[in-house]
Amino acid sequence: MKKNWEALVLKAMGGKDFRLTVLESEPVNEHYHRLLVDGGGLLEACGVHPTMWIRLWFDNDGRPHQRAYTLVDPDPATGRFHLEFALHDGCAARWATAARPGDTIDATVQGSGFTLPDPTPTHLFLAGDAASLPAVNSLLDSAADIPATVWLEYAHEGEKALTPRARAHHEVVWVPRRDGGRHLVETVTAAIPSDPDGAYYWVACEAASTRGIVKHIRKGLGVAKQRVDALGYWSAR
Ligand SMILES: Cc1cc2nc3c(=O)[nH]c(=O)nc-3n(C[C@H](O)[C@H](O)[C@H](O)COP(=O)(O)OP(=O)(O)OC[C@H]3O[C@@H](n4cnc5c(N)ncnc54)[C@H](O)[C@@H]3O)c2cc1C
Repeated sequence: MKKNWEALVLKAMGGKDFRLTVLESEPVNEHYHRLLVDGGGLLEACGVHPTMWIRLWFDNDGRPHQRAYTLVDPDPATGRFHLEFALHDGCAARWATAARPGDTIDATVQGSGFTLPDPTPTHLFLAGDAASLPAVNSLLDSAADIPATVWLEYAHEGEKALTPRARAHHEVVWVPRRDGGRHLVETVTAAIPSDPDGAYYWVACEAASTRGIVKHIRKGLGVAKQRVDALGYWSAR
């Protein structure tokens, strides 16, 4: 895949490039698709951490199109991991559903990093959706003993069939996508308690919803920035 100036900037920032090979392609349902890939040395070179994501280079009518995707169950012993795609009318989603074993795609690792705050949080408040479910799951796995409240926005009923990796002390609340995401913002901001001591907040929804929720946590509740991680995972257009 021909790359562009973005690739040069990422390289200058220490980005590492790999070629992934599709090993298995499995529709989960009409709204979600899972691939098993060989990482081409990515896991050995970069290690793994919760919420770890990579930049995939899709071909968009001959032009490079870079989008972020999360590693699911990376296995350093085999060098393999899964990728899970929330489906919509986009280049990345289209590539995923058409991908067959043997297909390859280029990936760059640059910008991903994560550590839970120290001391260990007393409670996790997580807000996400189908696109960030892989990252939510990796957080629930890595902090399995910590109580958590998870809000997941869904645009289609079928997305509720995706099973978050929740334990008994993890509460999952599914929230329908309404009013361009404002319903999620209202639901989360109304339910989130006013800064319980030692809580940690992680927000990865549509970009405007993410901003709305984070504004409430930081400015409304006065939570310190070290206890909040947030990234808009996609933009409604
Ligand atoms: C750190 C990070 C990790 C991510 N990990 C994952 C992951 O593991 N799995 C995953 O599915 N996504 C993930 N995403 C989101 C993914 O990168 C975006 O959804 C991306 O825009 C998809 O690219 P595209 O080429 O398919 O669509 P684009 O060309 O970006 O957009 C085309 C159209 O689709 C709409 N659109 C894009 N994404 C979505 C969506 N999720 N839901 C509804 N409509 C959408 C846009 O508004 C636009 O109208 C991640 C994002 C980040 C920042």
